Amino acid sequence: METQTVITGSTLDAWKLIGSGGFGKVYKVKHVEWRMNVAVKLLHLQDSSALLREAQLMRQGSNPHVLRILGVYESSGCEPLSMVAVSGWGLVMEFMERGSLAHLLETLSKPPPVPLASRLAHQIALGMNFLHCLSPPLLHLDLKPSNVLLDDSLNAKLTDFGLAKLFNSLSTASSNSEEGGTVSYMPPEAFNLHYKPTPASDVYSYAIVLWSIITAEEPYPDARTIVVRLRIPEGDRPNLETVDPSKAEDFKDIISLMKRCWNNKYQERPSFRDCLQVTEQMIEVHKCGVNDAVHEVLKFLDSKETQMSKHFKSLNISGSTKQNNGDFLKASTISDTE
Ligand code: ATP
Repeated sequence: METQTVITGSTLDAWKLIGSGGFGKVYKVKHVEWRMNVAVKLLHLQDSSALLREAQLMRQGSNPHVLRILGVYESSGCEPLSMVAVSGWGLVMEFMERGSLAHLLETLSKPPPVPLASRLAHQIALGMNFLHCLSPPLLHLDLKPSNVLLDDSLNAKLTDFGLAKLFNSLSTASSNSEEGGTVSYMPPEAFNLHYKPTPASDVYSYAIVLWSIITAEEPYPDARTIVVRLRIPEGDRPNLETVDPSKAEDFKDIISLMKRCWNNKYQERPSFRDCLQVTEQMIEVHKCGVNDAVHEVLKFLDSKETQMSKHFKSLNISGSTKQNNGDFLKASTISDTE
């Protein structure tokens, strides 16, 4: 097996906080030797051995729809004092210019045009199928829109695969994630005492991601976690009435796939290979419209960013730096000293 590349703080510069989640904080960083931006996810870990093992698994093979892990970050101990916050361990990954699918859906506040929605559904299934085809299969166990990242042309890549398992094995529960993932995206069987994740667990989460794409909404927005945990095994699913009726016909293939994927019985859900048969057909039907759809959405995103910049300028907020995900954070240095 190839050895893990360890990247120390001395080769990294210009740290900017771009997001944070249950597993840790994510920074956009310049790799001074490679002369390119990378993303570093600092993890809440005491010990690196499990991370090194897991990163090795995450680096198996490569696929255009699975985020590349470039190495493991280890603080060198000689970072400037202002960088104390970046001490510890983390993963060094490709930097994705357009942030997450969650951010895209939130910014659009309506579903992407059908050709782009179909391509997203297809590319996510391609990435998931690749992980499940590894030997042994690599289960994601935390598939959701914030774990689907987008490049400059809105192509999707999966991230955070394997981390749910790593953190469960270390019993490091996070605030918004539960064992094995984020509640709204977790399959009904996950709420059983003797739950053992299977590839079908990821297929269920994929169904909820499809629902998020075609509605641009969060599932169960007002329900409390405990209620969601009780309702999902009873057969409750995100509301289909949220789908805009004028779009229901356009999205009919995605809707029918989604319903198969969220079957209460995990044995009856399709595999990602089965899903791909459906998404390949969708792509075939919509491929002529993809370029225009991407162009339209990018134009919209850029105009939103320009509006945001103007807004912040008018408020005269100094020291703010626009991040890839459109958020403005005081991040010219590490302002995050938690
Ligand atoms: P959780 O970890 O609780 O599941 P999350 O997925 O939102 O939540 P992170 O994976 O830590 O949390 O990511 C936080 C945000 O950082 C993402 O939503 C995304 O906008 C950004 N991000 C993560 N990785 C990258 C990357 N490689 N390139 C660009 N942006 C990234």
